[in-house]
Amino acid sequence: MSPNGDGMPVVLTINAGSSSLKWALFRLEASPVRIATGRIERIGLPDALVNSIDVETGRSEQRTAQVADHAAALALLTDQLARSGRALTVQAIGHRVVHGGDRYGEPALVSPEMLVELQRLSPYDPEHMPAELGLIESLTERYPQVPQVVCFDTGFHRHLPAVARLLAIPRRYERMGVRRYGFHGLSYAYLMEELERVAGREAAHGRVILAHLGNGVSMAAVRDGIGIDTTMGFTPTAGLPMSSRSGDLDPGLFAYLAKTEGMTAEEFHDMVNARSGLLGVSETSSDLRDLLAREAEDERAAEAVALFCYQGKKCIGAYAAALGGLDQLVFSAGIGEHSPVVRERMCKGLDHLGIRLDPAQNEAGAAVISAADSPVVVRVIRTDEESQIARAVCRWLKLETGC
Ligand code: ADP
Repeated sequence: MSPNGDGMPVVLTINAGSSSLKWALFRLEASPVRIATGRIERIGLPDALVNSIDVETGRSEQRTAQVADHAAALALLTDQLARSGRALTVQAIGHRVVHGGDRYGEPALVSPEMLVELQRLSPYDPEHMPAELGLIESLTERYPQVPQVVCFDTGFHRHLPAVARLLAIPRRYERMGVRRYGFHGLSYAYLMEELERVAGREAAHGRVILAHLGNGVSMAAVRDGIGIDTTMGFTPTAGLPMSSRSGDLDPGLFAYLAKTEGMTAEEFHDMVNARSGLLGVSETSSDLRDLLAREAEDERAAEAVALFCYQGKKCIGAYAAALGGLDQLVFSAGIGEHSPVVRERMCKGLDHLGIRLDPAQNEAGAAVISAADSPVVVRVIRTDEESQIARAVCRWLKLETGC
């Protein structure tokens, strides 16, 4: 891979999680075309998993490796690209960054000023931001002449009205930046573009609920194409129960546990992010597939699944109220795309909102899973955050360089 040269012009996208690095390469065309993709998971553990697929040849690689940290993962990725034997010219690198704070909403070019602001925001999300910033800095050192564009997960929610944005705590905290930001913005932006593509402009500008149900779980209420509410808050721990995050809790809980168990802030943070949600309630697994397989004989698994679906259903009702009715409901991400049972349970009993599923279409995971006479169209759309990053980078390149 050469950062400047006469190879095929590509965009590299980087999507870093707390212990993972997902990447993809896109050929630059009218809309970007994915040519390779990969992920490095379990970074920091002795047996990290390294996967990659060359989309054009279908050749794939899967192995375990020792990957101490994100810098080592990046070295592995650039080495892998160099060994691919392809002449590639990286025109730009696109990053997903969780938090843009108040200053950054639209995708923007990395600058020293931006890095200072993102360092300041880093404590807002200590799970993801340090790794994301480390990767930007390493890539700047390695490819100083390649522009890097950052896409912010908070960006989609930048127009939240004050009633959804404000937390009911003393005002001075809002002035310090403590408010609802919302996350999963790249996924939501992609889903809205896809909704417009498959259902038309009128549908995408109606009253829409987007349900991103993956390991991280959130929903967004969207009207006229603009996000008006979302479940995640100041941090991604808020809102609905997730694979290992609690979602919303009684604010009195921390003080109670601090007093009764001497729990520290760090222990509480670890509990609500890594040991709660499906994992905490089931006591066995954070993976919904495991719990569904076991729910008939394991009451804890059944309760974890039931709680997950109940809170999702409640949120659909709340957002239909916030939107003044509902036209489109979109399920997405690992669970939303692949679990008919969860979709069915979240929609059950919502006839009064105009939601009626077609059981066969739901079971088949069809693009439209609502009945023909259902006033609300219920859809399954596969999300693709990497494509959304690549699209944003291409738009930026066109605007800035006319390429
Ligand atoms: P991430 O948020 O890490 O990107 P995904 O969007 O891939 O994760 O979602 C992962 C979740 O999707 C896991 O909880 C997994 O159990 C769930 N999942 C994937 N396939 C299925 C399936 N067929 N049925 C139920 N859940 C599924």
